[in-house]
Amino acid sequence: MNKELKTRRVLISKARIQAQVKKMARKISADYQGKDLVLVGVLRGSFVFMADLLREISIPVEVDFIAAASYKGNTRTSGVVRINRDLSTGIRGRHVLLLEDIVDSGLTLSYLIKNLKTRRPASIEVCTLLDKKDRRRMPVPVKYKGFNIPDKFVVGYGLDHNQLHRNLPYISWIEEE
Ligand code: IMP
Repeated sequence: MNKELKTRRVLISKARIQAQVKKMARKISADYQGKDLVLVGVLRGSFVFMADLLREISIPVEVDFIAAASYKGNTRTSGVVRINRDLSTGIRGRHVLLLEDIVDSGLTLSYLIKNLKTRRPASIEVCTLLDKKDRRRMPVPVKYKGFNIPDKFVVGYGLDHNQLHRNLPYISWIEEE
């Protein structure tokens, strides 16, 4: 089946994403004014969101990335989380804001938060573009959220299915096999 045809449906438009990203960035800029802020993007899915959000943030901010994996090329979590690439920045005494494309089961973030807390940051919070609340298995404290979405497997704006569709400028969804 033609993969392009399956992803023409729009769940969240580019315009809605842009407006919401701006709003989130304004709030973050106000909340972290005067604080030593490190934005930590969870690779790979968060890189598009990071690029847009970062450019709307109006305070000094450092950027780093961490790569974690809990999915093995399918659409459901395996329950196993691994750090594939660690931070290059020290975070001790600094304010960390973890950036995710989507929180699903919560396994990835709850693991990352636990791991990063051992490095003694001044604070650690979560900012996610999408939240699939109905599928949560581990509680995750989400401070900034773009959109709640239903239990669909979504792609676009950085999110993939088998590494494809990250380039869509909007959020679409695919049917699960
Ligand atoms: P969690 O550990 O189950 O919360 O999953 C977090 C990660 O799974 C996200 O960062 C995504 O990489 C991936 N993921 C979860 N749901 C989706 C989806 O609907 N589309 C694409 N990736 C997803």
